[in-house]
Amino acid sequence: MTRRLSFPLPTFVAFRWLAMLLLLLPSQALAAIDVGALQGKLNLGRNVLLLEDKHREFDIEQLISRGETFEWGASREETINFSFSDAAWWVQLRVENDSSAPVRRLLELAMPLHDYLDGYVVNPQGEILRQWHTGNRRNFDSRPVAHRTFVLPIHVPAGESLQVFLRLDTHDGLYDATPLYLMDYASFLAKAQRELMAFSLYFGALLALLIYNLLLYIATRERPLLHYVAYLGTFFILMFSSRGFAFQYWWPDMPTFNNQMVPLNIGLFAVTLAFFSDSYLNLRQHAPRLTQALYGLAGLCLVSALPALFGHYAPVFHLLIPGAILLSCLLLGVAAWRGLCGDTLARIYLVAWSVLLIGITLYFLRVAGVLPYNIVTEYAVLLGSGIEFLLLSLGLAWKINQFKTDKLAAERATSDLQRSLNERLEGEVQQRTRQLERANRQLTIMARTDPLTGLLNRRQFQELVEDEVNRRRRNGQPLLFAVMDIDDFKLYNDTYGHQAGDEVLIRISTLLLDHFRRAGDRIFRLGGEEFGLLLAVDSLEEGQQVLERFRQALQELHIPHEASTHGVITASFGLVACQGCGAVRDVESLYRLADKAMYEAKASDRNRVVTCSMIAKG
Ligand code: GH3
Ligand code: MG
Ligand code: MG
Repeated sequence: MTRRLSFPLPTFVAFRWLAMLLLLLPSQALAAIDVGALQGKLNLGRNVLLLEDKHREFDIEQLISRGETFEWGASREETINFSFSDAAWWVQLRVENDSSAPVRRLLELAMPLHDYLDGYVVNPQGEILRQWHTGNRRNFDSRPVAHRTFVLPIHVPAGESLQVFLRLDTHDGLYDATPLYLMDYASFLAKAQRELMAFSLYFGALLALLIYNLLLYIATRERPLLHYVAYLGTFFILMFSSRGFAFQYWWPDMPTFNNQMVPLNIGLFAVTLAFFSDSYLNLRQHAPRLTQALYGLAGLCLVSALPALFGHYAPVFHLLIPGAILLSCLLLGVAAWRGLCGDTLARIYLVAWSVLLIGITLYFLRVAGVLPYNIVTEYAVLLGSGIEFLLLSLGLAWKINQFKTDKLAAERATSDLQRSLNERLEGEVQQRTRQLERANRQLTIMARTDPLTGLLNRRQFQELVEDEVNRRRRNGQPLLFAVMDIDDFKLYNDTYGHQAGDEVLIRISTLLLDHFRRAGDRIFRLGGEEFGLLLAVDSLEEGQQVLERFRQALQELHIPHEASTHGVITASFGLVACQGCGAVRDVESLYRLADKAMYEAKASDRNRVVTCSMIAKG
């Protein structure tokens, strides 16, 4: 913020009159300052006469020739402060050198932004010995001493007395506190060094923070850091300009541009502040509407600064000041609200901003003439802003640490989730594999067995019997195979229904399984009501006996079959006994032999066992 910020505030106008009253006390004789004996720095606040030139009509010639007709008043203030005034002001002081040698002194007007300063040194004869026309709105080389403030060399010959006149004027009617000092060269040098050291520390610290955070941004790509850098950068230029350094070092030949920079930078400062506050406090997330208002206000501040580019300063401040105040209140309010919600960053922000606002308030009160010009009011903004940026930087570090912690937690949660997902997936895969294996087993069984009876199916018959035939061919053991066909089963179905027929098939299958339980016994359902039996017996007789027993057992089940000549369910059997199996060409011919025998049984009134023996030749 600069002195120009307070220009249109009506509140401060009241102070103007207070300041005027204090300044314009009755005229009194001006005591000469003995510059020969002067050592160190003399504050000229109470050693000068002041004259208000309301209509800017006086010139130096008039003041010299008709000095007694003007109403000069004595200054009573330590530091002259005209505050808000549309007039030009004249300052007069007398210096005399009582020593025997000429002395060289420096008169400093320690206000770098002062617009127009004309200085005249006049001897007792009324001749103007030296004159300067300088000020912040004239080129930097108009200054007799290259310094950020205005320094005029006053040389007084031995035993002489001189009058010094200063004419102060402004472009926009606002005077800041105007400290005036008279000092010897050594004191000026010491003071200038002290100030330069203080400012170097301040700007160096800001620059270090700026570079550090810029590097941090390059490394982390966290946007709040970039916003902080932009915010700090604008503030740096603002302070560098308002303290006179930018004019001295950056653009000494561009006084108009120099003056435009201040309001323009305030506008830019508002915008960068809005961006920074938004990302620092996560405002868009917490209060989207308020954030829009914030950007709106910041935009208004920037736009209102634009007329300054065309030399209109007064309208700039009519909008800029209320805008800046509103923006500050809004930000403080939001920060206070977020702070109350437990947001640590918002608390840091609030403290940081409060510190700066205290500095700005002290500065404004000085500009308004309420507080005196002193080291506190002079450096309050510097100190406040330094602390502010340091605190905000700490807040950013905390925020980035928070980012890191959150990121780590998120990564951990992701990896936990991944692990549990993997475990679940693995479990599911195992379960599915087991189901698949079960299904495969089921499929294999289904491929081998008959679904109704659970007996081996026709395909199995083909494979297993073929194996057996081959084996018997090798070891020469006999092979006994029988075909069994249920008698009059069509009639049974017709009489009792297909469902009942199925149940009979199941019962007979169970009986078969019960009966033929030796290790080599194999029972097949060859199709319909026809079954195949591979018997683990050694001779035709034995096979016949076994089948006969089964035939009887079936008959004794007494499954009623009224359409059958036997009255119950019976079956016919054809048994083939192969000795050595050399004569058996293949499974099919074996089956045909057994089938043929079975049909013989059918032909002989059914319900019987017919045998057939095959003996391999050679
Ligand atoms: P035969 O004494 O000469 O063997 O006379 P049959 O009636 O048993 O023989 P045929 O070949 O004329 O009829 C076989 C019948 O077996 C025809 C069919 O309805 C019945 N059948 C075949 N498969 C099934 C089945 O899975 N379930 C039932 N319920 N009946 C079947
Ligand atoms: Mg039949
Ligand atoms: Mg049949």
